[in-house]
Amino acid sequence: MNRPRLEIHLDKIHHNAKVLVERLSERGISVCGVTKATLGAPEVARELLAAGVGSLGDSRIENVERLRRSGTAAEILLVRSPMPSQIERVVTSADLSLATEVTVLEALSLAARRLDRHHGVILMVELGDLREGIMPLLLPSIVELVLTLPGLTLRGIGTNLACQSGVVPDAANMGVLSGLAEAIEAEFSITLELVSGGNSANLGWALAPGAHLGRVNHLRLGESILLGTDPTSGARIDGLAHEAITLAAEVIEVATKPMQPSGIRRRGAFGGIADVPSTPARSGRRVIVALGRQDIEPSGLVGPPSLEVLGASSDHLVLSDRDATVHVGDTVRFSMDYAAVLRAMTSPFVARRFSGATAAPEAAAASLLADDDPSGASDGARSSSVVGAEGLEPPTCWM
Ligand SMILES: *Cc1c(COP(=O)(O)O)cnc(C)c1O
Repeated sequence: MNRPRLEIHLDKIHHNAKVLVERLSERGISVCGVTKATLGAPEVARELLAAGVGSLGDSRIENVERLRRSGTAAEILLVRSPMPSQIERVVTSADLSLATEVTVLEALSLAARRLDRHHGVILMVELGDLREGIMPLLLPSIVELVLTLPGLTLRGIGTNLACQSGVVPDAANMGVLSGLAEAIEAEFSITLELVSGGNSANLGWALAPGAHLGRVNHLRLGESILLGTDPTSGARIDGLAHEAITLAAEVIEVATKPMQPSGIRRRGAFGGIADVPSTPARSGRRVIVALGRQDIEPSGLVGPPSLEVLGASSDHLVLSDRDATVHVGDTVRFSMDYAAVLRAMTSPFVARRFSGATAAPEAAAASLLADDDPSGASDGARSSSVVGAEGLEPPTCWM
């Protein structure tokens, strides 16, 4: 190992996607597998599709384009309203987008006509979480506009809860979404193909025994597939694998030091005064791992039971080592929450190692791997490939 690396267990991701697809299809809900936390990794997308997701979703056009270059023919949903400056790229590479703004819809229509394509639209509705979404009263007028815009197809309506304000999807807000779908269908004599209820935070509602799901028939799932957790509580979802993505990093210092800092204390480099352990012990073993806030969110890392994360600055992750078992040069493995995964995936200093592939890469995907890894550090084996394991060029930013 010559730098920290994410270990991505594709078999576990496949398992999680399959279990969720099966549980939800019994309830009439199809799954869009969201790849944004993996930066649109084709290795992950292949597993999601093999596990039965109906489409892929990503929030960044760069990731959507990466999926296309890898040979992905599946339907791809852009799960963020397109940037006006990226409209042509969106129409070229994504099949449909979530949208909320009239100017964006008009630009999508123009671009679709210019490029001789059709682009699908899911209109997002604001239902209380106060992130993206059209206010419900304005929805009919925007539906009317979309229906008149050439090159656009109104595929459905949707909403997103939990991410901004922590509003939990429940019978009340999901009932409002269903009611809006029915009202739009009646007013315009159309059928909405998709009523997209939300993200992983919707699973508690959607999978509750006896839940009445109304018209909701689509969810966009990322975290629950990748981590097996419910974002509303952080709790593990029954029957899912929980360590599909782990982080391995190297120990660079081990020392016995006092438990309490000495000297006058003010704010640290990242604000606030760090907590110090309240313990009668006067000294203890401390370990430094070569990771920092450039690579991870320290509060989202959990190490082996004898190691406790005490804090991190830009480049140093400090842990206590209860059993004094760790040595310089050792590799320590951490499980991660969503915030930590996101940060590690976007750090140019963290490599990614895929293992346990069950879905065969297409020919185009094999050549993409070669592009991603100009150093040739990839071992090329189908079951275990390291992306970006050498040099400092970001492994994740390929354009
Ligand atoms: C990220 C995102 C999702 C997926 O969310 P998870 O909590 O990872 O399941 C779904 N919809 C939108 C609009 C998103 O931005």
